[in-house]
Amino acid sequence: MARILVVDDSRVVREMLRRVLEEANYEVIEASSGKEAMKIIEEDPPDLVILDIIMDDVGGFEVLKWIRARDDVIQLPVLLLTSQSATENHVKGLNLGANDYITKPFEDPVLLARVKNFLKIRRLEKMLFEKAVTDELTGVYNRRFLFKRFQEEFSEAIRHDKPLSVSILDIDHFKRINDTYGHNCGDFVLRKIAKEIKNSVRLEDVFGRYGGEEFLIILPFTNKQDALHQAERLRKRIAEMKIPWKGENISVTVSIGIAGIPDDPASSEEELLKIADYRLYRAKEKGRNKVEWEDSVKLGVT
Ligand code: GH3
Ligand code: MG
Ligand code: MG
Repeated sequence: MARILVVDDSRVVREMLRRVLEEANYEVIEASSGKEAMKIIEEDPPDLVILDIIMDDVGGFEVLKWIRARDDVIQLPVLLLTSQSATENHVKGLNLGANDYITKPFEDPVLLARVKNFLKIRRLEKMLFEKAVTDELTGVYNRRFLFKRFQEEFSEAIRHDKPLSVSILDIDHFKRINDTYGHNCGDFVLRKIAKEIKNSVRLEDVFGRYGGEEFLIILPFTNKQDALHQAERLRKRIAEMKIPWKGENISVTVSIGIAGIPDDPASSEEELLKIADYRLYRAKEKGRNKVEWEDSVKLGVT
């Protein structure tokens, strides 16, 4: 059920809106001031806001500006509701990013039709966003999202002087799986591995498919030592997996390269990834089914 926040300093208006919206099966939350509205949006964001313009403390235009400044990819739909019918107010509201404008007194069916439209757009936006960040085969985050997120986590770690680690995991001899059992089996194995990683990382960790048979795990607030423990555990778990395929049980192993700040000398997220990637390559060289994290890495290889 969609949640709608009604912001108006008039109790009568709030109650009227509540009645109309609840009859149409929406969940309604009320705020009697701009300040209260901002608090609610911050703590538990609704799916849509109906916002009065003239209020005593913080006016609707200010609240709207605040909402748009904190929106990330998906905008919170805002319908301005006011008795002000002046054209310049309409223009101002729309320019500030209001999705629509409703003047009091309003007709219930018109209000409901608008609410329904904007909730539908929001659902579509959410769906598109999910698609844009998801790897289709495995359902986990894709490379594009991981890059962006890793950049953000890196800046955050530097700013707050916190550790951050990253693991790159590559399935060993994956080509053989495809060659022996076919591409569909390879796809199936990729999904199983993605699931296993999901079950083994912490909630704060972010992981996804970094490339063909490679996965990336971002571990915020985690030093390299702890990342190593996690990677070792994951490596073992994967090596012990029996993946059922057409009456056979398939086993795979993975190699993992780890890097982390502050232990590793990386001044950018690219450098940190490069170190992890180089260590992955070293893990392969050393015989695969290994986690590589050593400090003595020479970064001549780029
Ligand atoms: P190594 O141990 O050195 O990593 O060997 P490898 O065979 O895993 O590595 P290589 O890079 O030679 O081959 C990777 C293979 O992964 C080749 C490619 O066909 C396969 N692959 C990449 N993406 C997919 C996919 O989406 N589905 C399937 N089934 N196979 C994929
Ligand atoms: Mg491989
Ligand atoms: Mg590879």
